Amino acid sequence: MNNIFDTHCHYDDRWFDEDRREVLDRVLGGGSVVSFVNHAATDYDSALFGIENAKRYKNFYTSVGFHPEFASVLPDDWEEKLNELYELAKETGKLTAIGEIGLDYHYEGYDREKEIEVFEKQLDFAGEKDLPVIVHSRDAAQDTLDLLRKHGSRGVIHCFSGSAEVARQAIDMGFYIGFTGVLAFNNAKKALRALEVVPMDRLVLETDCPYMAPPPFRGQRCESTMIAEVVKVVAAQKGLTEQEVCDTTCANAKRLYGIK
Ligand SMILES: [Zn+2]
Repeated sequence: MNNIFDTHCHYDDRWFDEDRREVLDRVLGGGSVVSFVNHAATDYDSALFGIENAKRYKNFYTSVGFHPEFASVLPDDWEEKLNELYELAKETGKLTAIGEIGLDYHYEGYDREKEIEVFEKQLDFAGEKDLPVIVHSRDAAQDTLDLLRKHGSRGVIHCFSGSAEVARQAIDMGFYIGFTGVLAFNNAKKALRALEVVPMDRLVLETDCPYMAPPPFRGQRCESTMIAEVVKVVAAQKGLTEQEVCDTTCANAKRLYGIK
């Protein structure tokens, strides 16, 4: 098995502080099952991390954007900052998307109005720049779909956790669906039902690492090579070989992110 594209990862997470360089060298080095990774930026420093590593590693790509978790604590000049990050990332030739952006209604404490405002402004920004968006949506499926439709956005719903019905609507709108190690969990019935309705040309794989490590690594720090476990699940459900799943999802990811 080879040619895996991890479309969504967070190697800037503290969990990698001890050995980040070693992990990335291994994941992106010769002989790895992984061919490409895309860093999903969550704030200003996180985007700078992505830009720096896009320069360092040939197969490391990056997005820029502000995660809904930070919507209520963004500085007043955050839109200027987004533009600055966009320019810096564009210079690397490896800017993939605006993200991760979206809505998170899981925690009571978050300011939903502010989340919506920040999300909509970033959807507009992506539209102006003709870029796809990487969408984080937690307990907010209907509002997310409504806003994506309103802004005519394109991109990927990452770490898909919704129902088959939500997946179908997102696909009808032209979106890609990103699945993590959750697909390989023992209690993944809902995710597997969603996978059933996702056509192979709209499916992309991701770790969302360092979290969501699939079995047999559950509870451990996740890294891109562990996508191999998810590939096995998809291959079994779709009646394809593991290599076909890698090749197809890698081609999808390149199309999604505009990589030649
Ligand atoms: Zn993420």
